[in-house]
Amino acid sequence: MTIWLASGNKHKQQELAAILGGCKLKLPAEAGIHNFDPEETGTTFAENALIKAGSLYHILNTTNQDKPYAVLADDSGLCVDVMGGRPGIYSARYYGKDSWAGNGAFISKPNADKLSDSERNILLLEEMAAQSTVNALRTCRFVCAMVLFFGHERFYLVQETMEGEIVSAVQEIRGHGGFGYDPVVYIPELNRTVAELPEEEKNLLSHRGKAGKVIAKLLC
Ligand code: IMP
Repeated sequence: MTIWLASGNKHKQQELAAILGGCKLKLPAEAGIHNFDPEETGTTFAENALIKAGSLYHILNTTNQDKPYAVLADDSGLCVDVMGGRPGIYSARYYGKDSWAGNGAFISKPNADKLSDSERNILLLEEMAAQSTVNALRTCRFVCAMVLFFGHERFYLVQETMEGEIVSAVQEIRGHGGFGYDPVVYIPELNRTVAELPEEEKNLLSHRGKAGKVIAKLLC
């Protein structure tokens, strides 16, 4: 059976391909679907993962003859405790402290997803600094909801986390591995940021790695 990956994010595709090593994944582009990027209107990681999976499933169902198939989708992000779990589901669209209205609701801004990872990491540290946090409150976690979708009535949904702490200063941003917020998330037990972990080690410990391991058991 063909498994289609509902993601246009190249870093995630690479990590998932390594995590699900034994399973053959196809990318939307292989079905002529370019720039796959459905609107994430959910209020939770799980809802957004299901939206992505359902969206690719629908497109394939109306265009692709090669059945049966399943769709694999994930939605992930960084939740910082002192920020009330933000940026959370808005991690890819976060653009600093102005991202939130007075009631904490996200205010979307055109092209905010075009910020570089390092620009976004600096903005996150600036928002943390504005909160004048004590160390105990720098705790955070990466979250990944992953769904293996066989249709709207049949799917497997897993949600996993990786715990860490946000580094306390720009000088502590370290590492060149991974992507996104990896250089600002410090794992105290390893005395390294996630970006300092070799790919295989991140995949063993990460939110996506742990969720993928459960899904791989169903698939391969
Ligand atoms: P999504 O593509 O809508 O799931 O957004 C995921 C966003 O969360 C990414 O663009 C990153 O900003 C962040 N993120 C998710 N997983 C990771 C990770 O493993 N490392 C660093 N950042 C991550």
